[in-house]
Amino acid sequence: MPQPRRDSQARPAAPADLPIVLLDCGDTLVDESTEVHEDGIVLSGELTPGAEQMVRDLVAAGHRVALVADGRLRSFENLLEPSGVFDLFETLTCSDAVRHRKPSPRMFKAAMGSLDLDPEDAARCVMVGNNLARDIAGANRMGMISVHMAWTPRYSRTPEHPDEVPDHTIVDPAELLPLLRGLAGSAATTALLGQVAEEPAAR
Ligand SMILES: [Mg+2]
Repeated sequence: MPQPRRDSQARPAAPADLPIVLLDCGDTLVDESTEVHEDGIVLSGELTPGAEQMVRDLVAAGHRVALVADGRLRSFENLLEPSGVFDLFETLTCSDAVRHRKPSPRMFKAAMGSLDLDPEDAARCVMVGNNLARDIAGANRMGMISVHMAWTPRYSRTPEHPDEVPDHTIVDPAELLPLLRGLAGSAATTALLGQVAEEPAAR
């Protein structure tokens, strides 16, 4: 029986079967149409309706939550600190530091490394993002569960490649936690069925 992980910040250990949530920022948490840019940095922007509550609910439910976003750390501080969402992320993986953008596997591997996950843990990771070519394709190629946050028509909702087909689509942040509960439930059922199948036949 594997022991629950404990990291250096002594966060409460998440139940092993709870999906680990990787969140994009632009048009997933923040309404890009409200962003104010200067010299390559996003100075400010408004969270999408329900985004803050979604992150708070995920953390309260025991999910490990990490940011996996293209851009500079300073931008994400500016965007996410005023609401307090910034501090809810266990780790932050920004393309400016990784020097590669999604869908590069380096971004997803960096995020998994930051969470002290092994490659086989990818199947327990849920990537939530608005961009089919970046968030969804990148997650799918890693073997992660992909969730398309399709709240805005600013980005294509039509996959142009089989890799861009999301496992799930939501249009409201409030849909994510119930979706994850369903995933955790089905995973537990699968594990249970596997145990039953492995039990030796009665003599
Ligand atoms: Mg985005």
